[in-house]
Amino acid sequence: MSNDMYDVVQIGYGPVGQTMAALLGKAGHRVAVFERWPELFGKARAGHVDHEIMRIFQSVGAADAVEEDAARATKYEFRNAAGELLLSFDWDFDGISGWPSDYIVYQPTIETALHDAVSQLPTVEIHQGWEAVAIEPQNDHVDITLRRVGRSAVGKKVVTDEERTVSARYVIGADGANSFVRDIIGTDQHDFGFQETWLVLDLRPTMPLHFDFDNGQICDPTRPHCLFQLGKRHRRFEFCLLPGETPEQMSDPATAWALVKQYGVTPDNAELVRHAVYTFKSKLADTWMDSRLLLIGDAAHVMPPFMGQGMCSGVRDANNLAWKLDTVLRGLSDPAILESYRDERAPHVSSIINMSIEAGKISCTTDPSVAAARDEAFRTGQVPPPPPFPHLESGILATTDVNTRLRGQLAPQGRIALDGREGRFDDLLGTGWTLLISGHIVPEFSGEQQATLDRLNVRVVAVADSAINSAATDIDGYYTKYFAANAVTAVLYRPDFYIFGAADDLAAVGTLIDELGSLVPPRVQAALA
Ligand SMILES: Cc1cc2nc3c(=O)[nH]c(=O)nc-3n(C[C@H](O)[C@H](O)[C@H](O)COP(=O)(O)OP(=O)(O)OC[C@H]3O[C@@H](n4cnc5c(N)ncnc54)[C@H](O)[C@@H]3O)c2cc1C
Repeated sequence: MSNDMYDVVQIGYGPVGQTMAALLGKAGHRVAVFERWPELFGKARAGHVDHEIMRIFQSVGAADAVEEDAARATKYEFRNAAGELLLSFDWDFDGISGWPSDYIVYQPTIETALHDAVSQLPTVEIHQGWEAVAIEPQNDHVDITLRRVGRSAVGKKVVTDEERTVSARYVIGADGANSFVRDIIGTDQHDFGFQETWLVLDLRPTMPLHFDFDNGQICDPTRPHCLFQLGKRHRRFEFCLLPGETPEQMSDPATAWALVKQYGVTPDNAELVRHAVYTFKSKLADTWMDSRLLLIGDAAHVMPPFMGQGMCSGVRDANNLAWKLDTVLRGLSDPAILESYRDERAPHVSSIINMSIEAGKISCTTDPSVAAARDEAFRTGQVPPPPPFPHLESGILATTDVNTRLRGQLAPQGRIALDGREGRFDDLLGTGWTLLISGHIVPEFSGEQQATLDRLNVRVVAVADSAINSAATDIDGYYTKYFAANAVTAVLYRPDFYIFGAADDLAAVGTLIDELGSLVPPRVQAALA
């Protein structure tokens, strides 16, 4: 075994791996990240994030930089060839997480913001230009062999014979859709059966461009496509490949310019910064954890981009796994709690994969008669609305909660004033297990309940309309409205912002803590986690 023993070795440093490294590093764990390429990828794929993801970025200090280059769109629409509206998603409300509901973003900005955040963490090492080539699980740790790789002038991988071996208590595979760690785990992937190939174009306008239709899908069977802003400074077009077209044909820049010309976009007013053909797939790994090996992000699941949720789902994986791994690495509970990771995340991400596929089916129709039937079905109201966005259904969630509507939902974030400062709740108080109580009165806890609160470092925060008894002040009345609308007095939420349970009155709060103590019990295993 090598002397380099880390808490976590992470393979892959895309946006999901970056988020994970930031969360674990913020918690003080010794993390070594190994990324194949010597530099950040630097090319956009994701173009959308939602309020939950912004709160996660906020928690690692990256949200402001992401927002600086993010744009807002009020809606995301699907229109047919004649411009008739088929489906519209409202993107113009304040998300519960304390950020606007949706942003359109430029992925390289996100990666730079996350990288800047990770680079400041003293316990995280970032090794770019190292590819994982062997992973050997042992009883109480994992050995990982890395090989140094470089990049040739034409961007191809150049393999060297320089190798090193490191060891870690856990290995996280954040290594994307063709995950090596997933291969080592040896899991099958469930294929949802949807697969479509599209040309993706990113442009940087060199002068202001105007579009009558923006931010949505043109469901035109002669050439399904979409267009939207990509952050503040870029634009995205995506075009479905038609039967008989090959990726090689479509990869020619001349093809790209010919396709965007219909929108008045030409080399005279825009620069083509990227053109790539992607085959959108829809898959979910059967196993996300095998002893000390864990998968997050595209390594665990891929989906077509029609809901803009692939990276978002991976960032949720990171946020879910990070607090559980932190709890285990600190010896505060048994590794058994890690089993809830896939149990919680897989149903959530499956729902989103299905939503993405249904949205993709609307868009990807290339048969004119099928498209006509689709349009008629929308016109006559025969198409049911999309299902609501999922929340957590089971896992580390209270079961005795009388107000079951809130369990597994996202916790609110409003602005508060405390100790002479004002701002978003997390900016003032940080993140972690939080017992949020409406009003000035904090209930008495039994000795056992207090021990659970202390062990898991649960913050008890009273939020009221004034600062009596050192309560945080609810500046905008946001929390007051939230508690009243949901008819609850207290909410206990997890470090990943999902509500563990809610209490109708102060008397019920103790029951929540009792449940927390039994669902995240003190560690009993003698062996090192
Ligand atoms: C056209 C398109 C549009 C999209 N739009 C959206 C959107 O709007 N919103 C959204 O949320 N998502 C979107 N997505 C999905 C999103 O881009 C991905 O889900 C996200 O990039 C996955 O991040 P990741 O970190 O899991 O994987 P990746 O970004 O693939 O990173 C994996 C990293 O692991 C490295 N790696 C792999 N193997 C090894 C190894 N053996 N050793 C060392 N390193 C290794 C790779 O080099 C890579 O850097 C879109 C995708 C596409 C293609």
